[in-house]
Amino acid sequence: MYQCPHCGKPAISLIRKIFLGPGAPVPCQACEKTVKVTFSDWLKSTLPGAAVMIAALFFDSDLMVYGLSLIGLALMISLHLLWVPLVKE
Ligand SMILES: [Zn+2]
Repeated sequence: MYQCPHCGKPAISLIRKIFLGPGAPVPCQACEKTVKVTFSDWLKSTLPGAAVMIAALFFDSDLMVYGLSLIGLALMISLHLLWVPLVKE
């Protein structure tokens, strides 16, 4: 669970955090005030994974393409969970 910047209680679950984009604020489970992620934090955490996925396109081997795409996706999700803080709307 991720802490709410308003009330300090758990605001959203891990799964919801993964899908939380900068354009989609969600209400906190505890206080129902809106929390969101900023575009710059979101972009910062998305770019390394996106770069790996783009790099995958330059390989001829299917294994490399699928392997790197999966690594890129995993990187995108984990960096999103680690780097992107919840902020007040
Ligand atoms: Zn709250």
